[in-house]
Amino acid sequence: MTPGVRPLVAGNWKMNGLRASLGEIIAIRRVAEAGAAGPAELVVLPPATLLMEAASALAGSPVGLGGQDCHPKSSGAYTGDISAEMLKDAGAAYVIVGHSERRAAYGESDALVKTKAEAAISAGLTPIVCVGETREEREAGKAIAVVSRQVMGSAPSSKGAIVLAYEPVWAIGTGLTPTPADVAEMHAEIRALMGALSTQTSEKTRILYGGSVKPANAEELLGLANVDGALVGGASLKAIEFLAIASCCRVIGAGRV
Ligand code: PEP
Repeated sequence: MTPGVRPLVAGNWKMNGLRASLGEIIAIRRVAEAGAAGPAELVVLPPATLLMEAASALAGSPVGLGGQDCHPKSSGAYTGDISAEMLKDAGAAYVIVGHSERRAAYGESDALVKTKAEAAISAGLTPIVCVGETREEREAGKAIAVVSRQVMGSAPSSKGAIVLAYEPVWAIGTGLTPTPADVAEMHAEIRALMGALSTQTSEKTRILYGGSVKPANAEELLGLANVDGALVGGASLKAIEFLAIASCCRVIGAGRV
């Protein structure tokens, strides 16, 4: 955790969830409203089909909502795409950009991710910019270089709050996680890079860890320096697991809790 920074725990549902799953969101809302979810800000990022209903279910609650991707343009002839403006209109406050599944499956480049992050800021959303190395890149000793390039290439040039998510590709959905020392090293590197970007306030930018975060490993990962929360995939689909992860967050020092 970073002193004075409120942690963020965000649940990326990916392409999972039907209307019947809205009960999980309502369960998260109830626990958060009862003040029993801990100090972290909680955000759920369901598939786009559930956004409007999720927004109604969360209206007036402390739990936030986000989209999983956005198009760089605000409207136009882009069949199947969703703009940041549309996400905002549907009730979202956050949007993931540059998730490794999109970088890999749709060839999304750092430059494209940057334009998406800028579109998100223009629409009034906070982008959660994802970065992370592959197994081959880590084994070749290139993890820091790859992630540094992604951060510098994907972070928006426009001023506005962003969240960074370090998600090693090989840790996503595999049950594997980097060593705590490797996570701490990467987060310190990202923190230093954020300081080099004149558009960001380095100490206030939240840097999340993502990749096989579970209730069993959350306490150790969330206790590391410069780890300001988690981006959770599989374990976010069940409110009980998501809340158990969130409950591992602590806030150090006075700040914007
Ligand atoms: C993710 O896809 O953002 C993610 C972190 O997935 P998981 O927690 O399932 O590894």
